[in-house]
Amino acid sequence: MQNILMVWDLDGTLIFCLEGRRAMELAFYQLYGIRNAFEKVKMAGRLDAFIVREAFKENGIPEEEIDSFLDTYCRILEEFMQNADKVWLLPGVKEILRNTSSDSTIHHVLATGNIERGARIKLKPYDLNQYFPVGGFGDQELERWQIVNLAIKRAQEYYGAVYQKENIYVIGDTPRDIECGKILGIKSIAVATGPYDEEKLRMHSPDYLFPNLEKTEAFLKIFK
Ligand SMILES: [Mg+2]
Repeated sequence: MQNILMVWDLDGTLIFCLEGRRAMELAFYQLYGIRNAFEKVKMAGRLDAFIVREAFKENGIPEEEIDSFLDTYCRILEEFMQNADKVWLLPGVKEILRNTSSDSTIHHVLATGNIERGARIKLKPYDLNQYFPVGGFGDQELERWQIVNLAIKRAQEYYGAVYQKENIYVIGDTPRDIECGKILGIKSIAVATGPYDEEKLRMHSPDYLFPNLEKTEAFLKIFK
């Protein structure tokens, strides 16, 4: 039996969450007294390390500040997640993870632009961290496809498995996720639960496309 690896994006794929952006904005305001610091910075599908560096440049903040900025960001994010109304778990996600967790040939890994601390804070209220023992994260300034590649390597080590490229699926809500699939020669599953609708995602030719993951049977059929 060949092993299957699902490489999951986080924002817009596992959960819908606007609190990350709000927490970054507030951290910036608390530390530097600057409002709307991320107004000109595009965030979807991008890495935290890049997003923060761009906002620093835009607002004249020295790069050495990054660690203290991320500490403040995580503290605020944790508070926001405790009583968030702009965050929800996306349909089908929990069922898919739960239903596949008893199958020893299906493995999951995270590949997200979030820093690891931030990702764990976002997933904690939904009890999703248990499904992702390892992952690739946006702490380092890597390209998105490199994060996905890193996630695959970490999954191989953690699960002690070798995956054929045709059995690796990157699941995400933006054209960048689809692009990662093409760069790495692995399969892509696009889901229109983020800022891009189905029509826009289709233009990037993902291997599979879903409006959302509510129909878990149809999604799981891919792997049979
Ligand atoms: Mg996303």
